[in-house]
Amino acid sequence: MTSRGKFIVFEGIDGSGKSTQLEFAQQYLRNHGLEVYTTTEPTARPIGTLIRGILKEELKVSEETLAALFVADRLDHIQNDDDGLLSMLDKGITVISDRYYWSSYAYHGLHMPIERVVKMNDICHQLLAPDLTIYLDVTAKHSMQRITARNEQQEKFEKLELLQGIRQNYLLSFQHHHQDLTTEIIDAAVSIETCTVAVQSILDRHVINQNI
Ligand code: ADP
Ligand code: MG
Repeated sequence: MTSRGKFIVFEGIDGSGKSTQLEFAQQYLRNHGLEVYTTTEPTARPIGTLIRGILKEELKVSEETLAALFVADRLDHIQNDDDGLLSMLDKGITVISDRYYWSSYAYHGLHMPIERVVKMNDICHQLLAPDLTIYLDVTAKHSMQRITARNEQQEKFEKLELLQGIRQNYLLSFQHHHQDLTTEIIDAAVSIETCTVAVQSILDRHVINQNI
């Protein structure tokens, strides 16, 4: 019987290095013979596309509505018939996601109590909790420097004070919610290579060397 794949999540504020480290993790795990599927939230599916439009301020909705749309997109991510995460994991595939419900806690927690966001996401937590979350920790200032260097169009969350609040909410969330041994916080204000070494060691411990 195929054993269930592991569900790995990368979290961090914009510019913290998620895409960079996710790319490394995918290659590293493939080199160890695992079948890996990478994905991202918000998704590229219809609800995710709607959310991206809202983040670009093409459409305005209340913060509660936006938080609820993220829950709907996440449920669709987990459950859909085309490439739903549960069906991938059941096939024994390792899934790596760029963001998951921790992002909701951190971002929507700017506008409502984090506890309310956690409650809204309870169904997602019940259906699929990460086997491993890697949080890439950098200060808002540091990430702003990287974002500016990247020179992309800035979305509404990519402003210094917002990023400071988001980082604070991430750290609070890891302290107060779903406390277990599946969350790893890395100091990511270091070179890409140093960060990669830390990610590799976590993957060795949680995925390669043992069944979680
Ligand atoms: P995220 O996906 O979290 O927004 P990225 O991986 O896209 O972050 O990284 C943001 C920018 O910073 C990119 O230009 C990337 O090359 C650069 N970068 C990523 N990690 C580091 C690092 N550890 N040190 C310096 N620059 C980095
Ligand atoms: Mg990215």
